[in-house]
Amino acid sequence: MDSGFASRRQFTAEEVERIAEKAAILGIQMRTSPLQFSHMPFSLVPSPVPREEFLRAMRAMPLFNRLIEAIARNPEWLHEHLEGLDEFTSQLLAVSKRCQPPSQQLYLGIHRSDYMLGGDDRLQQVEINTISSAFGTLAPRTRMLHSWVLGCYGDADMDDRNLPENGTLEGIVEAFYQAWTLQGGRGVLLMVVNEKERNVFDQGFIEVSLWEKHRIRTIRASFADISLNFKLEPGTNIGNYLDLPVSVIYFRAGYAPNDYQTAHDWETRELLERSTAVKCPCIDYHLAGVKKVQQLLCSPEHLSRFLPDPAEQRELQAFFTTIMGLDQPLPEHILSEVRETPQNWVLKPMREGGGNNLYDDEVAAAFRDYSAHSDQLKGYILMKKIMPKPIPVLLVREGKAVLLPGQWELGIYGTYLSTNEQIYLNTAPGYLLRTKSASSNEGGVAAGYAVLDTPYLV
Ligand code: ADP
Ligand code: MG
Repeated sequence: MDSGFASRRQFTAEEVERIAEKAAILGIQMRTSPLQFSHMPFSLVPSPVPREEFLRAMRAMPLFNRLIEAIARNPEWLHEHLEGLDEFTSQLLAVSKRCQPPSQQLYLGIHRSDYMLGGDDRLQQVEINTISSAFGTLAPRTRMLHSWVLGCYGDADMDDRNLPENGTLEGIVEAFYQAWTLQGGRGVLLMVVNEKERNVFDQGFIEVSLWEKHRIRTIRASFADISLNFKLEPGTNIGNYLDLPVSVIYFRAGYAPNDYQTAHDWETRELLERSTAVKCPCIDYHLAGVKKVQQLLCSPEHLSRFLPDPAEQRELQAFFTTIMGLDQPLPEHILSEVRETPQNWVLKPMREGGGNNLYDDEVAAAFRDYSAHSDQLKGYILMKKIMPKPIPVLLVREGKAVLLPGQWELGIYGTYLSTNEQIYLNTAPGYLLRTKSASSNEGGVAAGYAVLDTPYLV
């Protein structure tokens, strides 16, 4: 398959509708209102991804897992370097400081490292997510959809063995199962969710699989529910939801300021942190995923502290692009470069979930009067824009396909389970591909910019 596949095959409106119906049948859906669902936006055909680059990113994931772990086990470093960035990060930091030493030694990470294809056809890291890494179950289902599409509509030279296996759901379930077993094989998993969550299919497959495979029960609850129903046993700090002991806590909310409606929600986050349950993520894993950390790791001095082996450093550095911190004055030559070509840069606040970054005119405006904005800008990082060559893509929304120049973002999932003494799990179980119009700067699916896709390795 060449990069023109999306433009080579003409699909009728009826064919697109049949494929959209298959997406829904496979559970590639979102909630639109209570008990109303519609298919998630998806790419009609898989997109070409260079095989060697895909494999390189998969190989690197266990190293990223170890790096995150090393950072999170050094809370003093996090406290020193994340001080004074912005209100939200300061709140997270305060929780971390008040909760030292950690209430449990078992750390569980479900991460996703995201990449785009740079101009030299090498993957460059966009960010690494350490909290609420979504689409671990809908990505493998999108692979099933694309395998079926190739079978029904693909040319003879297309082989669905070029759609790599995606074991992310199994990997996530296995990680929870091992954590739960190490916690004594009892208690429930508490999934912290937003009341108005749309991405319930992605989450629900995890709940059902935990029950099917391991008889682990999941309780879904918002911060408001938790503040009413979750209590710590005095003396032991074992958390109970109503009368059920909680052994694992999985955050699918809590990464955005809006998730904390009141000061009470922050107390609830801290209460969860203080419990002896395994938190996915614990507060220090959450902090290790803050964008400022990614910027600091671009400096060899910080990277080598957490990853002493030079060969391993080089393996990860090959994915890094230029990122500057704004808590100190920018060098004059960078400042003039940003002013002349603001379209080559992205300004990123310490936020997750998409739709928060600044581009183009907004970058220009922020740097026009740099000294006037310098106080707000210290809560941002400045990143070189990654500019993939556009490829034709067919994006399907509400049963209708649109052909556009597009670009994709590849995510690699990692699971990690360890104590200070022992590593129980360090894997890269699978991937996510999201594709967007090349004219859109942002790329989140939940945020409404991108669609679910599958790599066709070339
Ligand atoms: P978030 O935590 O909100 O997901 P990201 O760093 O992933 O933050 O940025 C959101 C989106 O912005 C990405 O999915 C990508 O489409 C775009 N983006 C972020 N950084 C860059 C970059 N350096 N070059 C090009 N696009 C970027
Ligand atoms: Mg992102």
